[in-house]
Amino acid sequence: MNKILEYPHSSSIEEKIKEALNELGIDFIPQYKIDSYKVDFYLPFFHCVLEVYGCAWHACKACAIDFPLIDDAVKVRERDELREYYLRYHGYEVLVMWEHDVRKKDFVERLLDILESSEYSDNTILSNLL
Ligand SMILES: [Zn+2]
Repeated sequence: MNKILEYPHSSSIEEKIKEALNELGIDFIPQYKIDSYKVDFYLPFFHCVLEVYGCAWHACKACAIDFPLIDDAVKVRERDELREYYLRYHGYEVLVMWEHDVRKKDFVERLLDILESSEYSDNTILSNLL
């Protein structure tokens, strides 16, 4: 069976992140529109964008998925870079969580690690969540 077909629709990983953010009490706006882009989550407190990248759709290097469902891997990565660059240029920090991390048991800790890496994060507030 094709490995890609085993991945559920990417919205299910977004649901997991939604639940985790709710549990952590972190405000977010899903499917937030920034100019012509729609981002997975906007976190007002961090003034950042949190993108959840499906390994197949975003040609994940870690999972060695070089045959994404759309275009070719190089094009997919270039488009993601351009989008991230655009958002950063307009003052948003961009944090990315990959599907293979969302699938791990300790993904909430991984999510916290990513949030802690935000330059806008106030670590005292985050440490209160732990
Ligand atoms: Zn991956």
